[in-house]
Amino acid sequence: MIEREIYLDGAATTPPLPAVIDAMTDTMFIQWGNASSQHARGRAARDGLERAREHVASFLHAAPWEVVFTSGATEGNDAVLRWAHEHADLRLVTTSAEHTSLQGVFRSSPERVSIIPLHDDGTLCLDRLAEAAHDPRPALFAIGLANGETGVLQPAEEMRTLVVHPEHRLLIDATQAVGRVPHEHLQNLAADYLTASAHKMNGPPGVGCIAMRASAPPLPLASGGGQEEGRRSGTENLPGVVGFGEACRVRALTLDEDLRRMCVLRDRLEAQLVESIPSIRINGKEASRTATTSSLTIPGLDGAALVARLDARGLRCSQVSACSSARPAPSATLLAMGRSEEDAFASIRLALTIFTDEADIDEAAELIAQEVALLSRVLGVPA
Ligand code: PMP
Repeated sequence: MIEREIYLDGAATTPPLPAVIDAMTDTMFIQWGNASSQHARGRAARDGLERAREHVASFLHAAPWEVVFTSGATEGNDAVLRWAHEHADLRLVTTSAEHTSLQGVFRSSPERVSIIPLHDDGTLCLDRLAEAAHDPRPALFAIGLANGETGVLQPAEEMRTLVVHPEHRLLIDATQAVGRVPHEHLQNLAADYLTASAHKMNGPPGVGCIAMRASAPPLPLASGGGQEEGRRSGTENLPGVVGFGEACRVRALTLDEDLRRMCVLRDRLEAQLVESIPSIRINGKEASRTATTSSLTIPGLDGAALVARLDARGLRCSQVSACSSARPAPSATLLAMGRSEEDAFASIRLALTIFTDEADIDEAAELIAQEVALLSRVLGVPA
């Protein structure tokens, strides 16, 4: 029986804010010019584009001229990796818990990749990062600020202080962090490249950006008409960019109170689940995490079956990240944290959005408890 929908898959995507929809609709109805046109309509479009760039830059602690709009975080990550791959002497230093776009073209050159292991709380091993950073051979360090499955935050400032060799480059994928961590967390990253995506923070899908420091080498993004100061050609996705800018503007207004509220709700959800399912484990709970994301292991249970049963009852969540869920493989993040394959398959991810309320949490906890009890009986697993 389908009850009302409860959406707890905010790490996959988030619902657009009404203000974002309004801004995008206005852009399509009224402000539909080409930002490269010299006439009044083009200039108005250009103004809208540059205003959006200011909002995005301010949200990311970047300067407006550092922000290059892309089709999303994948495009930015992929371009940085392709740039690095073209330089045969460059190594890639990353973890095995990252979004697949942080392995990108390097999948064909595993001998050039160094994997930094994770501790069992999901944070990366700084000693091993320091070792890789002391190696004088140039390297691209490509790390996600927040993990998409556990919400665990990496120690970004420490990473920056280690990756100082002038030949090294740092790419920070902030996609799972923006809108889910306090503003200060993005402050001192000083990454050469920082990528983000609008749809993870209540903007539209298909638009994102890469913030590039002036000293960062140019990237092999689309070449052609020379838009984005020659850094990424193609007529700008004005409605998308305006929607991204509006998401940044509006989310910035209430970020701290939203994070406080989501943290309380996430803790409430976890506390209720721990009470009703004593065997449950919360992955990465000991580490600093985003306000939104919980990775839960229920030993012996089939996570995919649980997600499907919850879906049938209106609760949307997932087992692993949406980008990899088409492939029935255990979560690379949980394996990197030292969990067994069996436990990785026995896990689900719940992720709040700014629209999640107490009623959602209480109902979700109840539904999960019921379905876990049922599956445990069927599978003969002690819950
Ligand atoms: N990086 C991370 C950490 C992500 O979670 C995602 C989306 N799941 C991406 C990159 C890709 O972003 P986009 O959908 O904008 O291409």
